[in-house]
Amino acid sequence: MIRLCKLFLCALLILLFGTLVQGQVQKPNIIVIVSDDAGYADFQLYGHKEIPTPNIRRLANEGVRFTNAYVTASVCAPSRAGLITGRYQQRFGFEHNPSSKLAPGFTLEDVGVDLKQSTIADDMKANGYRTIAIGKWHLGNLDKYFPLKRGFDEFYGFREGHRDFFSYKEKVKDGFALYDNYSIVPEEKISYLTDMLTERAIAFVDHNKTNPFFMYLAYNAVHTPLQAKQIDMDQFGNIHDKDRRTYDAMMHNMDKGIGKLFETIKNNGLEQNTLIFFINDNGGATNNGSDNGALRGMKGSKWEGGIRVAFLMKWAGQIKSGIVYDNPVSALDILPTSLAAVGVPMSKERGDGVNLLPFLHGSSGKPHQDLFWRRGVAAAVRSGRWKLIRVKSDPILLFDLKTDISETKNLAAKNPKKVKELLTKLSQWEKELDQPHWYSIMGDENQIRKHRMEVVGREMEKMLP
Ligand code: CA
Repeated sequence: MIRLCKLFLCALLILLFGTLVQGQVQKPNIIVIVSDDAGYADFQLYGHKEIPTPNIRRLANEGVRFTNAYVTASVCAPSRAGLITGRYQQRFGFEHNPSSKLAPGFTLEDVGVDLKQSTIADDMKANGYRTIAIGKWHLGNLDKYFPLKRGFDEFYGFREGHRDFFSYKEKVKDGFALYDNYSIVPEEKISYLTDMLTERAIAFVDHNKTNPFFMYLAYNAVHTPLQAKQIDMDQFGNIHDKDRRTYDAMMHNMDKGIGKLFETIKNNGLEQNTLIFFINDNGGATNNGSDNGALRGMKGSKWEGGIRVAFLMKWAGQIKSGIVYDNPVSALDILPTSLAAVGVPMSKERGDGVNLLPFLHGSSGKPHQDLFWRRGVAAAVRSGRWKLIRVKSDPILLFDLKTDISETKNLAAKNPKKVKELLTKLSQWEKELDQPHWYSIMGDENQIRKHRMEVVGREMEKMLP
């Protein structure tokens, strides 16, 4: 009897230990892929079919496509600051792209993601993840803001907001140099940057297949400069506009790279255990040949074309395939959703995002009642079907996005009660924010002009970069 009991105890211990080990193995890997300045309609599932992006499309076919997804800013750096901290970036003064136009009381030492903020990589690292940032950083050029000091174990990328895709022939300023952790990769070794970022992503997966990992893969494609490989240009010989043709080639190259990364994940048997996000950092830019389709406005504006982006997510076995999710979601949701996937509860104070998993599993209700934006003189709020834009002392703009996705009819005069309600919400949110720690070098006038109703059509929009 005693012997039997011992045997039973042994079996139980083995079972428990096995479950624990299995539990560790099952901690999901997390990959956040970011593209840069891509047009909303340039992803096949959000617009036209001109550019083959079958690998990005796979995420939607095998996971979720969000149709009302927003970033927190219509330009690169503040958008990324929101994503990576899970907080509205204005809470810590990161309202504009980094610049030397400082607010009173601040110095150049302050230009970066405030060191008191923790990043998604800090969270993952604290939970035993191996972390890497690949590609564009743009969250502070000084050493104290370097990715390796912000929760990342590895960095393969550059500090600035853009750089050439091919090697520079002249001496390179530090912000544009390609870093491999703390060493600079000699320019002559740079073949084509998008390929190199992909290769590093693949090598990282291969090295970390037996432990949980977190990857922030921030391609600088398809930001300017417009530079593509001839082999990719040849694919689009039928496109006569040179900028558009180069842009298409860059986009297609990035998609092929993402496909290779997915193959690596599959070949290592990690497909069931990897949560993947894909998001574009802001709307199509005025200078890169992108196309925002039906959305009004472009990068830099509070129109939908500035802030509504392609956003996809896949977690095989955990999220059903082929979901189309229409309620508004935000880049802020990436952090809490990732934490939930890892099994870490998030306090309300930690961030402004929402764990999306319950909603994808069929929970009723909406992740967000309201979403807010502000960059200097221009601010906006989305609440259900309504969106209000407030630009300095210009007339208030109010749109019903359910019936007017292109924001052509300003309904403010007809709906004074709604205007008042949304203005109140916006100013309440603003009370929670810090003042910007630095300002945009573009000045206010450009932003004011680009939000005027009389600016109609892409050609006019492009005159206001
Ligand atoms: Ca961007």
